[in-house]
Amino acid sequence: MKTEEKKIICNCCKKTIREENGIPREEFLHVEKEWGYFSGKDGERQEFDICEACYDKWVKSFQIPVQTIEVTELV
Ligand SMILES: [Zn+2]
Repeated sequence: MKTEEKKIICNCCKKTIREENGIPREEFLHVEKEWGYFSGKDGERQEFDICEACYDKWVKSFQIPVQTIEVTELV
């Protein structure tokens, strides 16, 4: 179903993800989580979007660095 145009905004810095014809022109991270019984948020669904700059800052705060796997570009 087509709803009114919904912008993708980084939840961390409020930057708008550039889109052309509804296709994101910038990479970003979309997270969706439905919390279950063992959490304090049972039955809650949360989602957010993070731009690449904030993602980089975020993962740098990790105690264990993210695993990076080189993928062959398919352009
Ligand atoms: Zn951001």
